[in-house]
Amino acid sequence: MDYDTLIVGAGLFGAVCARELKQKGRRVLVIDRRPHPAGNIYTCRVNGIWVHQYGAHIFHTSDRKVWDYVNQFTEFNHYINSPVARYGDELYNLPFNMNTFSRMWNIATPAQAKEIIDRQVAEAKKDYHITEPKNLEEQALSLAGRDIYEKLIKGYTEKQWGRDCRDLPAFIIRRLPFRFVYDNNYFNDRYQGIPVGGYTQIVEKMLEGIPVLLRTDYRKSVTKRDGAFCLGQDTFRDVIYTGMIDEFFDYRLGPLEYRSLRFETQELPETDNFQGNAVVNYTERSVPYTRIIEHKFFEFGKDSETGEPIHGTVITREYPAAWQQGMEPYYPVNDEKNAALYRRYQELAQGEPHVMFGGRLGMYRYFDMDKVIRAALDTVAAM
Ligand code: UDP
Repeated sequence: MDYDTLIVGAGLFGAVCARELKQKGRRVLVIDRRPHPAGNIYTCRVNGIWVHQYGAHIFHTSDRKVWDYVNQFTEFNHYINSPVARYGDELYNLPFNMNTFSRMWNIATPAQAKEIIDRQVAEAKKDYHITEPKNLEEQALSLAGRDIYEKLIKGYTEKQWGRDCRDLPAFIIRRLPFRFVYDNNYFNDRYQGIPVGGYTQIVEKMLEGIPVLLRTDYRKSVTKRDGAFCLGQDTFRDVIYTGMIDEFFDYRLGPLEYRSLRFETQELPETDNFQGNAVVNYTERSVPYTRIIEHKFFEFGKDSETGEPIHGTVITREYPAAWQQGMEPYYPVNDEKNAALYRRYQELAQGEPHVMFGGRLGMYRYFDMDKVIRAALDTVAAM
């Protein structure tokens, strides 16, 4: 059959493109090399609990159109992400706010917190000769001072990214709010929640009526003939590719770096409440994992279908790792070296006018889910 577009990757970017192109009357087919759709937002049900198999995903956005868009597919609950950080025996609320500061310094008012932070920031700027923050360390010290940086940022960040904070871009830490009010909401966005019934169903609904071939690897199954892309008997005019851009080009210019994660999931049928929160970060370098997720608390410990309390629990420890072939890539490493290499891959991509690259891996960008949807909607609008 003659199709218009082959979409490579049944994750969020691919699924939004597939649905929107179908709405425009285009003939699309989706392939994915994994055995399931939904990419890294895949959730599956274990003992009545929706488990985020590829790490915690909390939907948040200030983009009203994107919020309305996802709400077509499911209802969202009122979950507000409020992680707790553990540094040895010390427990702190995140993001950095008055609860964090009052626990750190035994103070009560914003003026007291500001005084300590201003002093520590001034000391750090002098000691580290910081003018304009050039890297994550300088950014964190200029924002929060030494205590917060050393207890809550340095260890976590260095294990998460596998490199020194001085070799990381400042924008990564600017993802986190920093505020002088007692507010533990991890995000500043207007809308937030977890989809009732998990994430996989959202993607399944987006893909309704669209052919999807799972366990199908683009590089093993697609060829190019007379300017068209061929998969078995089917031909396609163009391709939306959401895999790794360097892999698409057979690593011709060398590999881009990615961070990967290893998840260790434990079912604890005898434990109703393991840690009292959905997300606990372990900010010390010496603890090998960055966080423990207790999935039931994304839904307040209740079965989303019956509203009944869930007995037992499921937890996941998240271990960061360097990406190697055969592993799932999770985060692009947006340092200068990789950014420069990515730009060279973008130049190569200009020689492929019938291939559009999208999503975290195709665009090599640290996208949140709402930004993925926005980028996918914009991509389709331009097609
Ligand atoms: N971060 C930190 N301490 C924490 C949590 C986050 O220093 O307890 C830093 C770390 O550098 C991390 C970045 O903030 O990579 C962004 O964190 P976020 O929670 O947004 O990361 P994600 O959930 O995308 O992995």
